[in-house]
Amino acid sequence: MKAHDGMYIDGAWRPAAGTDTIAVVNPADEQVIAHVPAGTADDVDAAVRAARRALPAWAATPPAERAARIAAIRDALVARKDEIAGTVTAELGSPLKLSQAVHVGLPIAVAGSYAELAASYAFEEKAGNSTVHLEPVGVVGAITPWNYPLHQIVAKVAPALAAGCTIVLKPAEDTPLTAQLFAEAVHEAGLPAGVFNLVTGLGPVAGQALAEHEGVDLVSFTGSTAVGRQIGATAGAAVKRVALELGGKSANVILPSADLAKAVNVGVANVMSNSGQTCSAWTRMLVHDSQYEEAVALAVEAAAKYGERIGPVVNAKQQRRVRGYIEKGVAEGARLVAGGPEAPRDQGYFVSPTVFADVTPEMTIAQEEIFGPVLSILRYEDEADALRIANGTVYGLAGAVWAGEETEAVAFARQLDTGQVDINGGRFNPLAPFGGYKQSGVGRELGSHGLSEYLQTKSLQF
Ligand code: NAD
Repeated sequence: MKAHDGMYIDGAWRPAAGTDTIAVVNPADEQVIAHVPAGTADDVDAAVRAARRALPAWAATPPAERAARIAAIRDALVARKDEIAGTVTAELGSPLKLSQAVHVGLPIAVAGSYAELAASYAFEEKAGNSTVHLEPVGVVGAITPWNYPLHQIVAKVAPALAAGCTIVLKPAEDTPLTAQLFAEAVHEAGLPAGVFNLVTGLGPVAGQALAEHEGVDLVSFTGSTAVGRQIGATAGAAVKRVALELGGKSANVILPSADLAKAVNVGVANVMSNSGQTCSAWTRMLVHDSQYEEAVALAVEAAAKYGERIGPVVNAKQQRRVRGYIEKGVAEGARLVAGGPEAPRDQGYFVSPTVFADVTPEMTIAQEEIFGPVLSILRYEDEADALRIANGTVYGLAGAVWAGEETEAVAFARQLDTGQVDINGGRFNPLAPFGGYKQSGVGRELGSHGLSEYLQTKSLQF
């Protein structure tokens, strides 16, 4: 695999300040495929300074011109789509078809949406005797996870560029090669030097230095709730803007009038896709008492289809963590009906597609985010019970409701404490605001709501 041995700072690949490196491992066969530099606070400082220097000119660039540069990034990603898909598969382990359709297809769509939004967005509003200007927040420190390596980057960089902000990106240590390809795409798109900068490195070193840097005006973080809490505290102490996209434990609520087979099949696919490493996955399936055993049988059948098709989880630590949760589910008395804690292959960080029945709301596997291919099926007595269970975690990122009539599903969905709900299998929409209620986060990504995160208002009175 091709890897740069430097950082992309101020429009060029530059040697890292230190000599430490990070090994990139293919989780499907445990082989080291590349090394990238482990950035330090010095690299972060150089990148933030470059971003600050580039800010005034980029902020003053007409939105139509910013839109054209974002469209050029989109085109550069399209031109390299096979290379990017192969790289995502090599460092994340996702099956190639998933890499092509989702890991590359989705960020291309998101980049395209921001090229359009940047050109059409109203950066000026009238309010009585005032004109309100929506101005860029400034320098953005973007910290991203590995589960959708390119999407997480584009979901921050594209709206930040559209708003007129400049950026320093610190991508996840497991998937830095995709981030380097993104930096190449930015370079090809002809962005002015310093508008986008990339520092690879470890979270507690480079990530922390970026979150703490006084030259950063907004920290946009996606990752675990534990790290998000720390970044939120740091930003709060510095009175600095922060956006947090954190964990989830979403409910898939199947009401008795729903098409049960469809709801279960789509629900299982939703959890197993990307080896369960999706923050918005519906990892708790809620089924009425009268349909419970039928739903369990359907879920077992659906999970069996994933046995051969599923990719590994991202690294050995995640594999241990997920298997630990499966053991805990068994120990707490849930009924294991598919999969289990044993590794299905000798090599690679694989976890069997796993389904638990007889899961009760207080069990660890019903409360904590597992981030692996593990589904819990819970039983409810009536709608009030279903609602109480669905809302009974600290998270509130996503969810699904299935019913015979849309109106019935919508009435239930409106009572869920969560940021996104799919009605009867509604499709993912890259223009819809994405983000969490409760401890799933602060702020929204995607579409115009995602753009407004990177803007601040100035009102002029006449
Ligand atoms: P993580 O929090 O360990 O890491 C995320 C990023 O933060 C990485 O780039 C990492 O290097 C960096 N980081 C780690 N420690 C840091 C520190 N002390 N200071 C600054 N940066 C630091 O999470 P992960 O294991 O990479 O990702 C999995 C988690 O991300 C899951 O909990 C998942 O739900 C969450 N996630 C949420 C969303 C969302 O949109 N809500 C999307 C994807 C993933």
